[in-house]
Amino acid sequence: ADAPILVTGGAGFIGSHACKALSLAGFLPVVIDNLCTGHGDSVKWGPFYELDVRNSLAVADVISRHDIRHVMHFAASAYVGESVRNPGKYYQNNIGGMQALLDACVTAKVENLIFSSSCATYGIPESQPIREDSPQNPINPYGRTKLIGEQMIRDYAHAYGIKYATLRYFNACGADPDGELAERHDPETHLLPLAMLAAAGLHDELQIFGTDYATQDGTCVRDYIHVDDLAHGHVAALQHLLDGGASLALNLGSGKGHSVLQVLEEIENVTGRKVPARFAARRPGDPPVLTADPSLAAEVLGFHTLHSSMAQIIRDAAPFFGLSKKEAQNA
Ligand code: UDP
Repeated sequence: ADAPILVTGGAGFIGSHACKALSLAGFLPVVIDNLCTGHGDSVKWGPFYELDVRNSLAVADVISRHDIRHVMHFAASAYVGESVRNPGKYYQNNIGGMQALLDACVTAKVENLIFSSSCATYGIPESQPIREDSPQNPINPYGRTKLIGEQMIRDYAHAYGIKYATLRYFNACGADPDGELAERHDPETHLLPLAMLAAAGLHDELQIFGTDYATQDGTCVRDYIHVDDLAHGHVAALQHLLDGGASLALNLGSGKGHSVLQVLEEIENVTGRKVPARFAARRPGDPPVLTADPSLAAEVLGFHTLHSSMAQIIRDAAPFFGLSKKEAQNA
């Protein structure tokens, strides 16, 4: 039988894509998700338990019932702006959730844990691209909860012999190239979806948050990675641990930076639709530039992005934001 993998947050954007990648690689994803932001219809590749990760006893029970030895932990709150306004939610979900999950892992004798961390743990880095040994000084509560999560895992790993891979994602976007899974967030706050919705006339004009950053065109630069690449990075990290590899922390990014204005330009190139936009004030908590040095993941996991060109990201996501696939492909 396929080795079962517990996937917390497996109904969410990145978690659901990871479930598909796990299934393709011969694993059985067993999903727990409280559906506070996830979608039940995104759970397609294994059993589903509607359960909050903070319910440690129930989680330990699922782990035992399926004889699970390996866990991928996605369940968390993940909006930078919201974390600035409502930090308590982030400490409860992300730190409380992590502790409950770790306790369940100890009770159920889990061997390997893969954790969704973030480039937000680096804060405003001194140099670009960002290497894994760059100082981690997050500048918003979301990033702090991810950094604390990494530290909690290390403490538990040390005390109980659990192995881990903490994966620091850059900007996840795009959607399943086969169209089986969408990018869906509620509320939608992310650049690519909002820009495409605006281009399709389904949303107000896009606000460009900050035009006076010290970047080539004054707008923020991010490293956008296709969610399908990200999903395969998780499988590669799991395989590394299963093959006897050591615990590690790795960046998962494309290694390329795009400014907000460059993203809008690429949407116009690919879809032929102009993104209505206006300049607006900076969004609190946004670092000016975040781009990954992806070389360690390449070296250790043999991980390379295959779908993370901005054009493919836009083509795969476009149909979910009111721009037809045909429109995206004809352009
Ligand atoms: N952004 C923007 N307008 C929006 C949403 C986002 O200008 O309506 C900018 C944001 O300031 C950041 C970049 O786009 O520089 C990516 O933001 P997103 O929320 O997609 O991801 P984050 O970097 O916060 O994870």
